[in-house]
Amino acid sequence: MKTATLDIEKIRKDFPILSRKVNGQPLVYLDNAATSQTPKQVMDAIVDYYSRYNANIHRGVHTLSQEATDAYEQARIKIQKHFNAARAHEIIMTSGTTHGINLVARGFTGFLKQGDELWVSAMEHHSNIVPWQMLCERTGARLRVIPMNQNGELELASFREGLSDRTRLVFVNHVSNALGTVNPIEEIIDLAHGAGAAVLVDGAQAAPHIRADLQALDVDFYTVSAHKLCGPTGVGALYGKEAWLEKLPPYEGGGEMIEEVTFEKTTYAGLPHKFEAGTPNICGGIAFGAALDYLNAIGMEAISGYEAELLDYATAELLKIPGLKIYGQAARKTSVISFNLEGIHPYDIGTILDKLGIAVRTGHHCAQPVMDFYKIPGTVRASFSFYNTREEADRLVAAVEKARQMLS
Ligand SMILES: *Cc1c(COP(=O)(O)O)cnc(C)c1O
Repeated sequence: MKTATLDIEKIRKDFPILSRKVNGQPLVYLDNAATSQTPKQVMDAIVDYYSRYNANIHRGVHTLSQEATDAYEQARIKIQKHFNAARAHEIIMTSGTTHGINLVARGFTGFLKQGDELWVSAMEHHSNIVPWQMLCERTGARLRVIPMNQNGELELASFREGLSDRTRLVFVNHVSNALGTVNPIEEIIDLAHGAGAAVLVDGAQAAPHIRADLQALDVDFYTVSAHKLCGPTGVGALYGKEAWLEKLPPYEGGGEMIEEVTFEKTTYAGLPHKFEAGTPNICGGIAFGAALDYLNAIGMEAISGYEAELLDYATAELLKIPGLKIYGQAARKTSVISFNLEGIHPYDIGTILDKLGIAVRTGHHCAQPVMDFYKIPGTVRASFSFYNTREEADRLVAAVEKARQMLS
């Protein structure tokens, strides 16, 4: 069994929060799709930074500044290696996925004209819809939607037929945060490139579960957030192919992103600094690197294998509950189970689960179009990580059954 490759008991000791109680019950944390918990190795990196070498980077001649610069640039290389990007300067440090998407969407303003077409999938997070709608407003480009089916899988036929020389950009998430679907991004990238369009993949939800090989994918842009990868909030990375990043204009102006400033003219710094105006989240970037070290020490393959078993187990057990419906039953899924109980509001279930110490998310999960598709106000979403256990899945199932009995 793959389970044997993960020492869950040892892993759980790395996460102090997992041993706390909520409402008198041991916490069962199943809101990992919103944010992951933080192992003490990452907390240690944060404490170490502020204890030993807190300083501003890239500008200082003094030792602390050099140490901080080295550690920050090492983190960039860790991100590059983890995702197999060809060059470290193709990794732009951001405040998270939302920031990365906005940077690209803003950058395309000057490249688009009336009548150009952009494609989005039917199951995007709002952060991969709204910046593109704003881009369409600025340029007169048109947004088209790759539809999905009842299983929560994308249907590529209309996309395939609709591609043309007007198609400029395609943006799709690698994994849906609302349904857990793993999207066929390899095929989408091939099709889009065939039409001469660029592709941005929102990897926020995929990165904790599947390692993307950016060179093999040949994707143009890929975005992630550290806080879904056992790192801190407020930091992330945008990968962009060198040629695209050279072409895109800077997103923000300020210090750090310039080569030379006079009142007549400013020349911009090279990559990656052109896109990194101002003092970044230095400690956060370093902690992001520590989080990747932590995940790689366990091994992404082992994590994926364990999580797949846990997902199958929890899915089968939940489906035994009368009236329970799971939204998103794609053939390829990661650790998200979105469900409802017939006739019961998701919020009421979430409230009872919290009383029992179980943290899940209820609502539209920043993906209202998905809820509209299923004609529901929202779902209960249980999302698993490698530090969750079968016993926790059992507690979830027992609690949902209890909620059903109380509410129906
Ligand atoms: C979490 C998430 C985002 C947004 O990430 P931020 O860290 O809030 O910027 C975008 N897309 C998907 C699929 C997500 O899961």
